[in-house]
Amino acid sequence: MKRIAIIGGGISGLSAAYTIEEKRQSGTPIEYVLLESSPRLGGVLVTDRVDGCLVEAGPDSFITEKPWAADLCRKIGLGDQLIGSNDSERKTYILARGKLVVMPDGLMFMVPTKIMPTVLSPLFSWRTKMRMAAEWFHPPHKASEDETVAGMVERHYGSEMVDLLADPLLSGVYGGEASQLSVRAVLPRFADMELKYGSLGRAMLAARKKIGGAANGPPKPLFTSLKDGMQAMVDALVARLDPNALKTSSPVQSVIQQDNGWTVSAGYQTDQFDAVIIATPTHAAAAVLQAADENLSRDLGDIKYSSSVTVTLGYDEKVRASLPPGFGFLVPRSAGHRMLAATFVHNKFPHRAPENRAIVRCFLGGARDEQILQSSEEEILQIVRDELRQIIGLNAEPLFARVYKWKSAMAQYSVGHLERLQRIELLRQKLPGLALAGNGYSGIGVPDCVRSGAEAAGKILAEMGMWSAA
Ligand SMILES: Cc1cc2nc3c(=O)[nH]c(=O)nc-3n(C[C@H](O)[C@H](O)[C@H](O)COP(=O)(O)OP(=O)(O)OC[C@H]3O[C@@H](n4cnc5c(N)ncnc54)[C@H](O)[C@@H]3O)c2cc1C
Repeated sequence: MKRIAIIGGGISGLSAAYTIEEKRQSGTPIEYVLLESSPRLGGVLVTDRVDGCLVEAGPDSFITEKPWAADLCRKIGLGDQLIGSNDSERKTYILARGKLVVMPDGLMFMVPTKIMPTVLSPLFSWRTKMRMAAEWFHPPHKASEDETVAGMVERHYGSEMVDLLADPLLSGVYGGEASQLSVRAVLPRFADMELKYGSLGRAMLAARKKIGGAANGPPKPLFTSLKDGMQAMVDALVARLDPNALKTSSPVQSVIQQDNGWTVSAGYQTDQFDAVIIATPTHAAAAVLQAADENLSRDLGDIKYSSSVTVTLGYDEKVRASLPPGFGFLVPRSAGHRMLAATFVHNKFPHRAPENRAIVRCFLGGARDEQILQSSEEEILQIVRDELRQIIGLNAEPLFARVYKWKSAMAQYSVGHLERLQRIELLRQKLPGLALAGNGYSGIGVPDCVRSGAEAAGKILAEMGMWSAA
């Protein structure tokens, strides 16, 4: 019987455990133990129910284009729970010059693909609009060093595009800054498009035509989620795992390679395993691997993380009627607020709020505002309420409010991230029986984490000669 330890019970660790559990149930002689430091499983996936509303503390959905999370949901019996975002209401605003301005139709991420809506939009200055026109003739780019997203976007569209779109969009997804994040790690498609076409606008149009030509049926919604919230995924996974294998409140201090296997120490307990999957943020992986391999630990520790805070406010039907239509708004740093973005949840996922309720979910923190974590919940609520008053004139008293703090939870893929990953992989290969999963490597979203957990388990099973055993 081979034994595998999985460290970390977020979605990455649970996905690894589920892959192993499937093998175990098909008769493969294998057992696993999942060690999670906190008293609950799921990591940042937490759903609360308040006043008839569904409140997501962490992720609220995942992008449909990446299939791994939805595929896993289908496998674990949640196929009929999958829902799409209400894209007929999709409209996102940017706070520009003190007003909410709708993002023009045809913007794909930050690349304009439709001329008229962009020309007529009050969002951009004429100078930026001229840059957008000129971008069409951008020559193909020679492969060169990695650069920041801000660097690339500025070369194509100028600094206003970085301030109004690139930076706020990346704050929303990564809690990061366009001036730090690596274009090759965060937007690899952009780097490839530039290499082939030069112009990102022309490349996007070509990609859209190709997808349009191949697509059957209506377009898929941009975001997918679960009717009962993201926590449903955690609950369904946990229900399918061996209950004796799940050890919560078990913080792992170290993993050390010993006697053809691994010794895992958690609290006063040590246990022997044939293999270990570390599915924690990389700063935690660095700490537990310190004694096993200093160089690996250093590279893992060098991957930076940012912290975030989500605040959900519930309101009555009068407020609901007064709020703008659409999914919500992004706040560029230059606007001078601490809020990074807000979602009108009742529009994005209507069944998450009864018709007489509005839900506004606000995001704060990120790489430039770590100190928000030092503020009390009352102080954070005060900041959010003041800023909602200034931005959308929302004065009403909320019916409920929830504040969630996530310390060092969002990996920042800075320039050079891909080279660091190569070094990490080479060092890992020298440690048989070790696999790494989580949001610090090649994708921060839930689908990528699901994939990374399953791949890590696959690697270990393959090393043990068990991958084709089912
Ligand atoms: C506020 C927020 C909003 C987000 N929104 C979205 C979104 O809308 N869509 C999307 O796709 N993604 C979103 N993300 C990103 C995505 O949710 C995460 O990247 C992903 O869920 C991370 O999963 P994970 O299992 O790798 O890590 P985590 O969820 O961080 O889990 C890691 C687990 O490891 C445990 N652990 C750490 N150290 C140890 C140790 N020494 N011993 C034992 N256990 C340990 C921790 O307690 C934790 O439970 C969001 C993230 C946040 C924070």
